[in-house]
Amino acid sequence: MKKAQTADFPAFEAEMLKVWEKEKTFEKSLEQRQGAKRYSFYDGPPFANGLPHFGHSLVTSIKDALGRYHTMTGSYVERRNGWDCHGLPVEFAIEKELGISGKKQIMELGLQKFNDACRASVFKYKEEWEEFYRRIGRWTDTEHAYATIDRDFTESVWWMLGQVEAKKLLYRGYKSMPYCPRCETPLSNFEVNEGYRDNVPDPSLFVKFKVTDPEPREADVDGVYLLAWTTTPWSLPGNEALAVRPDEKYVFVKRNNEAGASEVLILAKKRLEEVFKDEDTFEVVDEVSGKSLSGLRYEPLYEVAGRPKSDNMFKVWASEVVSIEDGTGVLHVAPAFGEDDLNLALDNDIPVMNTVKRDGHLVDEVPLASVRNVFFKDADRAIIEDLTEKGRVYAAETFLHTYPFCYRCDSPLLYYAITTWFVKVSAVRDELLKTAEQTNWQPDHIKAGRFGKWLEGARDWAISRNRYWGAPLPIWVNEKDEDDYLVVTSLDELVKLAGLEGKPEDLHRPGIDDIIIEKDGKKYVRVEEVFDCWFESGSMPVAQQHYPFEREDVFTESFPADYVGEGLDQTRLWFYVLHVLSTIAFDRPAYKNVLVNGIVMAADGQKLSKRLRNYPPVEEVFATEGADVLRFYLLGNDQAVSADYMRFNRDAMRDIQRNVFGTVWNAHTFLTMYAEIDGWHPVRR
Ligand SMILES: [Zn+2]
Repeated sequence: MKKAQTADFPAFEAEMLKVWEKEKTFEKSLEQRQGAKRYSFYDGPPFANGLPHFGHSLVTSIKDALGRYHTMTGSYVERRNGWDCHGLPVEFAIEKELGISGKKQIMELGLQKFNDACRASVFKYKEEWEEFYRRIGRWTDTEHAYATIDRDFTESVWWMLGQVEAKKLLYRGYKSMPYCPRCETPLSNFEVNEGYRDNVPDPSLFVKFKVTDPEPREADVDGVYLLAWTTTPWSLPGNEALAVRPDEKYVFVKRNNEAGASEVLILAKKRLEEVFKDEDTFEVVDEVSGKSLSGLRYEPLYEVAGRPKSDNMFKVWASEVVSIEDGTGVLHVAPAFGEDDLNLALDNDIPVMNTVKRDGHLVDEVPLASVRNVFFKDADRAIIEDLTEKGRVYAAETFLHTYPFCYRCDSPLLYYAITTWFVKVSAVRDELLKTAEQTNWQPDHIKAGRFGKWLEGARDWAISRNRYWGAPLPIWVNEKDEDDYLVVTSLDELVKLAGLEGKPEDLHRPGIDDIIIEKDGKKYVRVEEVFDCWFESGSMPVAQQHYPFEREDVFTESFPADYVGEGLDQTRLWFYVLHVLSTIAFDRPAYKNVLVNGIVMAADGQKLSKRLRNYPPVEEVFATEGADVLRFYLLGNDQAVSADYMRFNRDAMRDIQRNVFGTVWNAHTFLTMYAEIDGWHPVRR
């Protein structure tokens, strides 16, 4: 027998893959272990509408190595992979493809057509993924893969929402989202990132809020004011609170105003020099801690008609979110128009007052006639003029900053509080920490660190999206009373409640929206929203088995998973949502062991970027160095397995090819050569 002088590893691999396929080696490895103890593994589903890339080779190598290892040590390791099919990335790609954008144009096209296009696209690159798995040598069952668009999957997701509702953890509330008023839709972060522009001129307004309670001590002044800074004067009618940093020093500054009267302004000590840089004569008359300012009451700038009445409005609160790097250290809080603002309101029981309509125009209830029904950005000037006339402006300038615009229609965006459905995660923090004790993390520090800290501060989870291509929320609301709603938790229940002939084949919009429930003489219609796709991937342990409607035994045997493994970025995403939903539904964690791998970066330390071409195509690596060398390199890399960032180093991979694989190959060649000469055969034991 003649051996090649130099080893062609990629060619060996191609032959081996053929053998595996022909002899069904993976399938046999499972058959041999039928009836053995299950070692359960949950596979996090990727999107199949995007191509697999180099970064996927690390996690897929780890998943494969562990599955093989536990099979070899005698366990039955089912390895079904899954596909994430819903969500904004899919819609985003379809809008681009069809050349449309936003709610209005989607509705004009027709929701059915739009969703059909989404459906047709979700498995666009399924074959490429399967080829990637095959070529890298990953043994996974693609034939029985689960997909989040399947009706069975969605039914289990509905059941999961039923568990949340049964524990009284489902509620409707506000969430602040970047929002385009022309498209009338919230945008996700990655969409917002598409539309930032630099050097956008905006007002920089220093505005005075008059302190009313307690009565100012200084008798000889015209008024005592908290000095706040804003770049969004249009949001001032929506002001409901002011916030200061509790640990900062604040100063009371006495000065003469433009009308010649003496007044006191309150601002952070650290901001004094910058804010008062053009003032010649002023006097610091007092210095207090931010904490001691909390509870002060002030006079609203505008009395919005019909506004909510609450003792918590128009008060000063202490908060860590207040910036001391710019402005005055006094934050103007408009809960309808900012994330920090809204959180402050929700944490302190301040009702949310919205002074901008969904189309971006100010409401009629604002007492200033010149801004009623005016587009928010166009209201700035009239408000500044009005406040100046009232003597409430300390300084008004224009400055340049970076501001987000809608990448679709160029409209300026705003943060906007919209109603959404929440899981009250904050109420189960203790349970989350308790069930997390039963989990084992590699590397260990993530358990109490990145993950544990996230659990300690867990916030309520907004699980609905005002979108189109997603699993529909199974919530039907009484047309006449929005607080009266039904959560449908199975298809049988839906059939019964709505008096249907049989189970609907497809649960997607718009078909599902036509199903009306009439109960006790009341008419219930489905809410428009779809699920956040993270709720779906978090329900995966039950939904992949269609539990509790089918395969209860398989679910019971395989839950919690013995092992899950994904990249560091999933710590606060998939690992988290799995943990939250399993804890709520079963009071148990979703997994026992987590292997968190690092993120592969380009050789220069930058993120892998298709555009910059800063990494080799994975097919090229397969063809040159081979999949085994790549896997050996990745799995042997300290950074990769310690959840660090690892720089891809092709030279290091070539060293492995030469020094490790080459050495093994030479030893093998040496042995077989002399074995042939001497007629030696290994003894089979
Ligand atoms: Zn827009």
